[in-house]
Amino acid sequence: MQNYNNNFKNSITLIIIYLLVAFLNTGCSVDQPLIEDGRSQFRIYVSDNALPSEKYAAGELQNYLIEISGVGLPIVNTYESNTKLICIGFEGGPKELVAGLNRDEFGNEEFIIRSVDGDLLIAGGDTRGTLYGVLGFLGDLGCRWYTRDVIKIPKKKTIYLPSDEIREKPAFKYREAWYKEAYDTEWAVHNRLAPSSVPIPDSLGGSFINYPFVHTFYRLVSPDIYFAKHPEYFSMVDGKRKDHEAQLCLTNHEVVKIATETVFRWIKEHPEASVFSIDQNDGYGYCECDECKKLDDAEESHSGTLINFVNQIADTVAKVYPEIQLQTLAYVYTEIPPKTLRPADNVAIRMCHYNYCSAHPIGGCSNHIPFMERLEAWDKISKQITIWDYFTDFSRYLLPYPNFENMVNDVRYYAENGCVGLFAQGSNVPNNGGGEFGELRAWVFAQLMWNPWQDGWVLIDEFVSNVYGPSAPFIKSYIKMMHDKVKPENVFFTIYAEPTDGGYLTPEVVQKADSLFTKAEKVAADNPALLKRVELAHLPILYTRLFFYSTGGPAFLSKEEMPEVLQKFERIIEEHQIKSMAEGKEIGDISAFIERVKKASNFVSDWWIIGPFDNANENGLETIYPPETGFELNQFYSGNKSQKVKWESYTNQESGYIDFTKIYHPSENGVAYASRNFEMDEKKSLKVGVGSNDGVRMWLNGKLVLDHKVLRKAEPNQEILTLPFKKGDNSVIIKIDQFGGGWGFYFSLLD
Ligand SMILES: [Zn+2]
Ligand SMILES: [Zn+2]
Repeated sequence: MQNYNNNFKNSITLIIIYLLVAFLNTGCSVDQPLIEDGRSQFRIYVSDNALPSEKYAAGELQNYLIEISGVGLPIVNTYESNTKLICIGFEGGPKELVAGLNRDEFGNEEFIIRSVDGDLLIAGGDTRGTLYGVLGFLGDLGCRWYTRDVIKIPKKKTIYLPSDEIREKPAFKYREAWYKEAYDTEWAVHNRLAPSSVPIPDSLGGSFINYPFVHTFYRLVSPDIYFAKHPEYFSMVDGKRKDHEAQLCLTNHEVVKIATETVFRWIKEHPEASVFSIDQNDGYGYCECDECKKLDDAEESHSGTLINFVNQIADTVAKVYPEIQLQTLAYVYTEIPPKTLRPADNVAIRMCHYNYCSAHPIGGCSNHIPFMERLEAWDKISKQITIWDYFTDFSRYLLPYPNFENMVNDVRYYAENGCVGLFAQGSNVPNNGGGEFGELRAWVFAQLMWNPWQDGWVLIDEFVSNVYGPSAPFIKSYIKMMHDKVKPENVFFTIYAEPTDGGYLTPEVVQKADSLFTKAEKVAADNPALLKRVELAHLPILYTRLFFYSTGGPAFLSKEEMPEVLQKFERIIEEHQIKSMAEGKEIGDISAFIERVKKASNFVSDWWIIGPFDNANENGLETIYPPETGFELNQFYSGNKSQKVKWESYTNQESGYIDFTKIYHPSENGVAYASRNFEMDEKKSLKVGVGSNDGVRMWLNGKLVLDHKVLRKAEPNQEILTLPFKKGDNSVIIKIDQFGGGWGFYFSLLD
C-alpha cells in the first residue's frame, strides 16, 4: 500500500455540476478534522428507513475508514443533538445539513457532499446516488479499485472534512465496459458503472437493463413461426423473401402489429427493464419491396423504414407505458438519419461507431468525418442518443492494439456531443478474458464514463504505476512505443485488423517490446502476483511472435526459440483461464492456433516474381501470358495498363506470405507470377501446401498441377498436394489472380 498524503481540498474532482458554495453557508472552518491522529468523535448515521444501498454505503465507509486510518467509526441510527455526524442519505439527519436540498431533484446516481456546522452529509438520489457519493468520497481520499486483486487504500492518520460542497452526477446514465474484468459485481459497483449485463442487485441500485440486449428483429417477429405462411413479413432481397440473415419488411402493417404485441409481452415479462430494443439484425438484408424501397428512397436512408416502424410501436407503447423507452440502432446501413422523419420522444437512438479507423480517435483523422456528421444530424432530431463503440480487435483479442488515444478521446467526444450512454465493446466473450490490457481498459473506461473530462492518459499512467509497480516503467515505455507508431495520419487499421495491418508490428518493434517485457518480468520475479499480471500484459507480444512464426516469419521468432515461447504462451493462457482469442468459434480457437504454430511448415518466401498482367475481364487466370511459357530473366513484357514488366527477385523474411498488393500497383484486377527452382539430390514425391488470394494456377516442370479459380482470403495450406520432383533442377511457377482486397500466396514444403 502506498501512503498518499493527499490534501483533500485539492483532490476533489469536479464532474458535471459543481456548485461552489463553500465557506458561504457551511460555517465550517477550513481543514476541520474528521479523524485526527487516529482518533475521532464522529458517528456514521444512517436511518432505519434508508435504502439498502445506503446502508451498504455506510458499511463501506466504515470499513474503508478503518483501513485508511485505523479508526472504526460506529454506525448509528439515532443521535444526540451534540453528536458529530457523517449522515449517509437524506433520511433523518439534522435539518441544517439538508437545508435547501430536495431529494426528488437528484438523479438516481447524483449526489451531494457538504459539511455544515462540523457535520458531514453524503446523500444522493434513488437508487444509488448516496452509495456512489460515498465511493466518490473514498476515491477523493485516494482509494482505488484497479482490478479485482489490486485495490489501493492510502494510509492517513488525519482526514479532514471537505471544505467545498460537491454535487456530482455521471456524464452518462448508461455505462458499460465490455471486458470480463468489469463483470464482477463488486468491481463494477466500486468503479461506479451502470451496466446492463452485470448483475448488480437492486440492493446496490440495480443494473440499467435494456431488453433484449441487441439485434431483436427475429425475436419481434419470428421467421420460425411466420415465414411459412407469411413470407411477406420478411425482407425481400434480390426479389426473394428471406427467412434468415436478413431483416423484416418494415412497411407491412401486420409486422408492426405483431412486433407491438411482442414488445407489450416483453414489458410485462421484464419489469426490471426500462428500455426495450427494437433493433435490426446484425448484417444487411434490409427489405427491398416496393413499399420499403419507396420510403427509404424518399428518406434517402434505410433508417427511413426503420424509424417509421419504430415510431408506430412507440406511439402505442407511450399510451400505456409513458415511462418506458424504446431503443433502436443506427448501425451500418441505417447510420445515416432519415431526411424528414423524426424518432418519437420515447425512442432512443443507439448509434454505432462501426468499423471506422481504429488508429486515430474521432476527429483525429478524416476517416471519422462521415460518422461525426451523422451523429450531429441524429442529435438534432433525437431526444436521446446512446453510443455503441468498439475498442478491440475483433479478429484477434490478443493482438497488440494501440488505440488508447481513441479510448481517452472518444468518451469525451460523445459526452460533448449530446450522448447519454456508452457501451464500450471490448474483448469479452462469455467466461473469457485476458484480451490485450483488458483490466486497464475496463478501469479507464469506468473512470471516463463517469467523468470524461479527466485526462485519460493520466489515468492510464496511474493504473500502470499502481498495478505493475516496479515493472511499470517498462510497460509505460512499451505503451508509448506502440502508440507513437500509429500516430502518423497514414496509419490505418480497423476492428478486424490482421497482424500485418497498420504496419506497426515490425520485427524491430516486436523484438524491442519483447525485451521490455523480459525486463519487466525480471523485476517482478520474486513477486508471484505481480509477475502473473506482467506476464498477462506480455501475452500479446508472445502471441504476435507465434503468429508470424506460424505464417513463416523467422524475423519474429526463430525455430530454435519457438518451443520456449510457445510453452510460455500456453502456460499464461492456462493460468489466466483464457478460453478464446476472438468472438467466433473458429477464429477464437486457441488450441487450433497452437497446432498451427507447432506444425508451422517450411514456408518458401524467396521467389522471382513478375506482374501485374491484365485481369480486367476476370479471365486473367486462364489467359496465357509470356512468363508461363518460359523464364527469361532480363526480358521486358507488356503488363497491365501498358507498363513494362520483368522478373524481379523478392524475399520476405517477416512472413511466408508473398503479398503482391505491397509490390504491384494498381493492385486491382491483375494477375502476377512467382517462379523458383528447387534442386533435389534425388527423385522424390514431396507434400506441398499452397494458400492463395484469390485464384491460383501452379506448374511443376511445365506441367499444370493446380488450377483453382476461387475468391478467398489466403491461409497457409488451403491446398495440399503431393508432387513428383525429379533429380536435379525443378521449376515451380505460381500464378495468382486478383479482383480487389488481398492478393498473394503462401507456399510451403510440408515434408
Ligand atoms: Zn418491405
Ligand atoms: Zn485514422
